Amino acid sequence: MAEHPKERKPLHLVKLHVHKGDTVLILAGKDRGKTGKVLRAMPRENRVIVEGLNIAKKHMRAGRGVLQSGIIEKAMPIHASNVMVQCTECGKPTRIAHERVPMGVDQKVRTRRVCKQCGKPIQEHTRD
Ligand SMILES: [Zn+2]
Repeated sequence: MAEHPKERKPLHLVKLHVHKGDTVLILAGKDRGKTGKVLRAMPRENRVIVEGLNIAKKHMRAGRGVLQSGIIEKAMPIHASNVMVQCTECGKPTRIAHERVPMGVDQKVRTRRVCKQCGKPIQEHTRD
């Protein structure tokens, strides 16, 4: 895959609408219509890895670094545009709005994600 140097931003500026720990609905591919938990968000690649979905079966032969030959199943990254975040409040798959509000003890303005369906903030599961 070709890297575009111009698009290379510092990691803290690269954000996805999908975060680790979110439950997402898969919109494309063979797992379309299924939901799963995001194990890893890859903002640079605009992709997420969803638990148990988009599994690729890989045939491995014992050799360098591989102890046993056989078929291993690996969750492959899915493009973020092919998943939809499921709201933690109303449970519906939704588009995300971003809202800047003062939060926390210091009342610093931070961005939070809001469900377009019910208008409530999406609950974050991790801090990163
Ligand atoms: Zn909602």
